[in-house]
Amino acid sequence: MEELTLAQNPKGLEGEGFFATKLSNVIGLARANSLWPLPFATSCCGIEFMATMGSNYDLARFGMERMSFSPRQADLLMVMGTISKKMGPILRQVYEQMAEPKWVLSVGACACSGGIFDSYSVLQGIDKVIPVDVYVPGCPPRPEQIIDGIMRIQDLVKTESIRRRYTEEYRTLLESYNIT
Ligand code: SF4
Repeated sequence: MEELTLAQNPKGLEGEGFFATKLSNVIGLARANSLWPLPFATSCCGIEFMATMGSNYDLARFGMERMSFSPRQADLLMVMGTISKKMGPILRQVYEQMAEPKWVLSVGACACSGGIFDSYSVLQGIDKVIPVDVYVPGCPPRPEQIIDGIMRIQDLVKTESIRRRYTEEYRTLLESYNIT
């Protein structure tokens, strides 16, 4: 029978009776397995997300069954659906209200690039108003793809330093969006 493990150990030194690793690895492991998503769902991709939350795909397996509809108690912004230009400033306000550290998952062609709606009223990708960490393609993406996107976010969370959000690179990224 296959041996089950609760979570993969972070990189570290292991010996009989001890395990040593970096603090940021432990924090990354804890954060990655307890993300609190804020679902910003505006259209059909949101329905696909509901399927991802259902018993068949069971997002709760990742420690994230607790959806947050308050930006201040969320650390993963999931944008799913067509975002109109009028909605852009609201999305940005929600992003700004989230405390650091925070990550953004763009789900579906509309959120990533405007999708089929190459029109005067639709934002041609949410990265026009906020930085995005992971893009999930598809119209709509299957729940498996959404889960894969979340796992890529988890990879980022596990491996990034707890200081990364204070780095020059990150600050420059935010400044390019005029976010302070
Ligand atoms: S990507 Fe396709 S399924 Fe998703 S919101 Fe746009 S039109 Fe709907």
